[in-house]
Amino acid sequence: MAEADSARAQLFERAKARIAGLNRHFIGGQWIAQDGEPIAVINPADEQIIGQIAAGAAQEVDLAVRAARAAFDRPDWQAMPAARREQLLLRLADLIEADADEIAAIETLDNGMPFAHARGAVGGAVSAIRYHAGWVRRLGGETVPMSVPGNWHGYTTRDPLGVAALIVPWNAPFAITCSKLSAALAAGCTVVLKPAELAPLTGLRLAQLVEEAGFPAGTVNVVTGLGTQAGAALVAHPGVDKISFTGSTATGQGILRESIADLKRVSLELGGKSAVLVFADADLEKAVPGVAMGIFGNSGQVCAAGSRLFVADAIFDRFMTALADFAAKLRLGPGWQEGVAMGPLISQRQRERVLGYVEAGKREGASLLTGGSAPAGQGYFVEPTIFVGARADMTIVREEIFGPVLSVMRFSDEDFETLARSANDSVYGLSAYVWTRDLATAHSMAKKLRAGSVKVNGAGMEFALPFGGFRQSGLGREHGRMGVEAFTETKAVMIGY
Ligand code: NAD
Repeated sequence: MAEADSARAQLFERAKARIAGLNRHFIGGQWIAQDGEPIAVINPADEQIIGQIAAGAAQEVDLAVRAARAAFDRPDWQAMPAARREQLLLRLADLIEADADEIAAIETLDNGMPFAHARGAVGGAVSAIRYHAGWVRRLGGETVPMSVPGNWHGYTTRDPLGVAALIVPWNAPFAITCSKLSAALAAGCTVVLKPAELAPLTGLRLAQLVEEAGFPAGTVNVVTGLGTQAGAALVAHPGVDKISFTGSTATGQGILRESIADLKRVSLELGGKSAVLVFADADLEKAVPGVAMGIFGNSGQVCAAGSRLFVADAIFDRFMTALADFAAKLRLGPGWQEGVAMGPLISQRQRERVLGYVEAGKREGASLLTGGSAPAGQGYFVEPTIFVGARADMTIVREEIFGPVLSVMRFSDEDFETLARSANDSVYGLSAYVWTRDLATAHSMAKKLRAGSVKVNGAGMEFALPFGGFRQSGLGREHGRMGVEAFTETKAVMIGY
């Protein structure tokens, strides 16, 4: 035990030493320092400053977009055999895998997530890159039977869109960044990445590994800075062909408005308020931890968090007792400690926002079953919180809280239509979860639920399945064939002979 503790302590010391060097932009294959006030990076578990990143703005963004454009136009990138591009991506995945513990430790220090969670997310990132690498040699068009008079050969190709701007949030920075980056590169785009200012470090570490993997200079560029400066400059830049954004719905809407000027292609992965339906026949041994970790995992800072829970009348009391029990036993603490299940929220501001929602829940008449407070001491922690007696018109049911707060309602098992209407009663439509052992219930609900993903009896990220949202949860899909095609433009060719 002592040995394991000391190995972990050493790992986190190594991670801290690495962080000290993650303070520059990566543009055109060069690490560029910047004058002026840097942005402090804060460890949300102890509120200490752990790093400083450069506050890039229009000038750095312009350099990065030009570097990405030059790299895209270079004959060696255009003519690079697909197998070589695939190999580069696979090499990057191998380098990340070899460095997974340290990357996870950096993520834990930067974002606050428990180390085991971060380690799982790095494993997921490796899988995403390998999955996308597999598309490099499979992305093709089709031949088309022609009807115009004469002899014609008609076919389509999937051309890379060009320079892709990748703008990512802080809640799962490394996994989201690797997924976007590898899809864009698989399609043949070059990229400018803008990490989230609240958790930028693993994006910079990734750039070091991109360099080590041997990607040509300028194919991957990273500019750090505030969303309103570096992010906005990237969105406005005429040299950007595609914006792939993950973040809040409000920011996504602004980006879409900005993109109209030059009709940039835009993919948006936005907020959610996902419904969870637990039927009376559900396997409760699995459903209780599944539902709990679906909202308390990563302290609820998950776009697809199951934050609106509907439980069948017949099992309501039994299920809620078990769920409250499970929640109360979750250990809160700094992510580097063994056995911690929930880390802090990302910032003081986020904690205040979440506690504001808890107050709204109480004010509007929901009953607090467990949690609801912020433990005293350092770190932006909030207890796992469950409200029962929630109603569809309450703020805690309507708005995305992005914290460990679950709002619970009950339903009568027989009435699928009313249940589906309640589950679909949201401006969002990212994910939905169903717990049942009945095949007919599973299929009926999968059909009725208006969400980009429906998961029955479990969760998890499968990169071969498209991921994205209905309604205000987004535009377009990541992962699967659609996710790579989102970085391409279709070209139709007709050749007379
Ligand atoms: P955010 O919108 O505040 O920021 C996201 C990114 O956009 C950051 O890099 C930020 O710097 C940048 N940004 C901010 N303002 C900008 C502007 N005006 N122009 C360009 N870029 C700008 O979101 P957040 O608080 O970092 O993330 C939380 C949100 O992300 C939640 O709503 C969550 O649901 C959503 N999210 C969605 C998914 C998904 O796949 N659907 C995944 C994770 C998170």
